[in-house]
Amino acid sequence: MEEAPKPENQVPHVLLFPYPGQGHINSMMKLAQLLCLGGLRVTFLNTQHNHDRLLSCNDVHSVFSRWPGFRFRAISDGLPAEHPRSLERFMDLWDSLNDNTKQLFREMLISGRRESDAVTFIIADGSLTFTIDVADELGIPAIACRTHSACGFLAYLSIPRLIEEGDLPFQDEADLDREIRCVPGMETFLRRRDLPSFLRAKERTDPIVQLLMTEALNTCRASSLILNTFEDLEGPILSHLRCRMPTIYTIGPIHALLKSKLADSSSSTPITCSSSTSSLWRVDKTCMSWLDSQQQKSILYISFGSYATVTHDEMLEFWHGLVNSQTPFLWVIRPDSIAGKGKGGKIPVELEEATKERGFIVEWAPQEEVLAHPAVGGFLTHSGWNSTLESILAGVPMICWPFFAEQQINSRFVSEVWEVGLDMKDRSFDRETVEMMVREFMNEKRGELQKSSDKIAELARLCVREGGTSNSNLERLIEDIRSASLRMD
Ligand code: UDP
Repeated sequence: MEEAPKPENQVPHVLLFPYPGQGHINSMMKLAQLLCLGGLRVTFLNTQHNHDRLLSCNDVHSVFSRWPGFRFRAISDGLPAEHPRSLERFMDLWDSLNDNTKQLFREMLISGRRESDAVTFIIADGSLTFTIDVADELGIPAIACRTHSACGFLAYLSIPRLIEEGDLPFQDEADLDREIRCVPGMETFLRRRDLPSFLRAKERTDPIVQLLMTEALNTCRASSLILNTFEDLEGPILSHLRCRMPTIYTIGPIHALLKSKLADSSSSTPITCSSSTSSLWRVDKTCMSWLDSQQQKSILYISFGSYATVTHDEMLEFWHGLVNSQTPFLWVIRPDSIAGKGKGGKIPVELEEATKERGFIVEWAPQEEVLAHPAVGGFLTHSGWNSTLESILAGVPMICWPFFAEQQINSRFVSEVWEVGLDMKDRSFDRETVEMMVREFMNEKRGELQKSSDKIAELARLCVREGGTSNSNLERLIEDIRSASLRMD
């Protein structure tokens, strides 16, 4: 017999609060949709700044109106409207979230209770652990969600050990090839240069190192952890993490899991669920028809994600190298991706001409669709975790050019462990290097990289299907949320 629908106030009410960055929002918004599909009520909390951007770039309300139990809310990040909220000013945002948003968050939860709209479960971004403190204080069950790789998280958790062993801090960057032996599971291939960029600090008291260490250790205070990864990809690293946090739900690649669950659901109307839905930039889809006119696997797709910036001169060097490699390309240049000196400077005619001939530039692409397009043969990426997983699922080999955070360790895993790409970290942005690397990637290395990419892509597809690890872990997560919420009543 079918279960009678529960009155609304008996359905668990989950609140998700991502760190205010594109990558975090993308994967947590997919998690939100998965929870709605699982029959839960969901409140998705963004900072007001990002909520306004989301509304101005997307018709999110019509996408989410399909989920009756879903709603958006917004909260101030405490910064003035004109603040750039850029990577360089990252600590301003961080401090303001702790000093201002934490209190507003507490008040929001308390007023929800008064209005009989109580949140019964919190999924806290593991980079924003004050939410766990507030949940503890108010007696609301909470778990953490880290939107980056398991290997990145394990590196952050290993900071105290790295300091103890004298691997951190280091004074100069001359000895970046020195081996690092104290991060479990990575003893045979990790070097200083592969540690997350923020750990290249000269003092152990460096505020960012301290912050990352505290947030990683605080994440472990949550009863359990959600990770956007899969067992066949990061199994050995996950075993080490489970010594610190026994309950880890690996539900990645989350974008593939959402697609799989939507396909299985009885809904007769096709539902869009790509990252475009959660983009903070307006997506330019014109590149898709350009891709349609290109040969199979001929295009190098280039994107450095939502934060990374280069100077105008670096961009020109890179552009020359790309053009000299003769490889056709689709390149994302965000309006805010050129920083510093020379911003808005001139572009040499020969670059413009060559780009007209065999290139296409957009300000923001529908990345998941681009990677799934048969014309795309490679991805030159900054190794952000979402981009890495999206490329893995699509079976597209990568050239990794990491900029910051865990991107350095992700690119090491891409090249050394999964063997699905080349790692260019710390190579200079000069035209000769770019040309050589792109040629090598699109020609000599192509076959072997494609073979490993196809194998891993197949594992990624299997784990999100019915009976696969990520699919089953999601079911378990939803059951656990239900039981914990019931205990709240
Ligand atoms: N992305 C996109 N269009 C673009 C560039 C990026 O939709 O033109 C999406 C991409 O699919 C990914 C996210 O933005 O989901 C970037 O997240 P990632 O973790 O790769 O890097 P971050 O932006 O956090 O550095």
